[in-house]
Amino acid sequence: MREKTQLDLHLSPAITSLSELAKAEDECTRCPLYQHATQAVPGEGRRSSHLMLVGEQPGDKEDLAGKPFVGPAGRVLDRALEDAGIPRTEVFVTNAVKHFKHEMRGKRRLHKRPNAYEIERCKIWLDVERALVKPVAIVALGATAARSLLGRSVTISKLRGQTLHLADGTAAFVTIHPSWLLRIEDEADKEREYKNLVADLRPAAKVLAKKAA
Ligand code: SF4
Repeated sequence: MREKTQLDLHLSPAITSLSELAKAEDECTRCPLYQHATQAVPGEGRRSSHLMLVGEQPGDKEDLAGKPFVGPAGRVLDRALEDAGIPRTEVFVTNAVKHFKHEMRGKRRLHKRPNAYEIERCKIWLDVERALVKPVAIVALGATAARSLLGRSVTISKLRGQTLHLADGTAAFVTIHPSWLLRIEDEADKEREYKNLVADLRPAAKVLAKKAA
């Protein structure tokens, strides 16, 4: 029998659509991150999507736009999805944490990684998304997403390449966050890591293709 998520336990009678979910996230005060962000950034994609990609948190551009993966990391992800044979239109993209965590450096807002408390407090919204979308596979992009989905701290290099199964049976894959590639200066290293990212996405493409067959 499917494990009950936090949604089943607390929210299912109240939230029945992605638009209701987006509103609830935007009104959320479960952790302090709402205080300095422009808005919550909800997941995006068709509710019938079979594949869910989970990133860390919105970046500066996503915070302003109110949409996930619209900045430079989003462009890397778009290219990697295409190279892995996954149409972005078939994918629901979201983040483990819905508000932008940052610190001011002059006039610039610099990304700060969410802590364990913030990830745990925000998990309820990811659970709601999973319950509404019901993906057959989920890809965790980076350690924050993996921690939220698996409920424990993980080392990406130890889990990438494996097919995992979440408590409700959903297939899960772990890879790097595409923003990591943006920080690699050596072009050869960057290209090698990009290819590894695409390789990590291919098993998810296979699950999608099997579902569509
Ligand atoms: S980051 Fe998540 S838990 Fe924290 S206030 Fe925003 S929506 Fe709520």
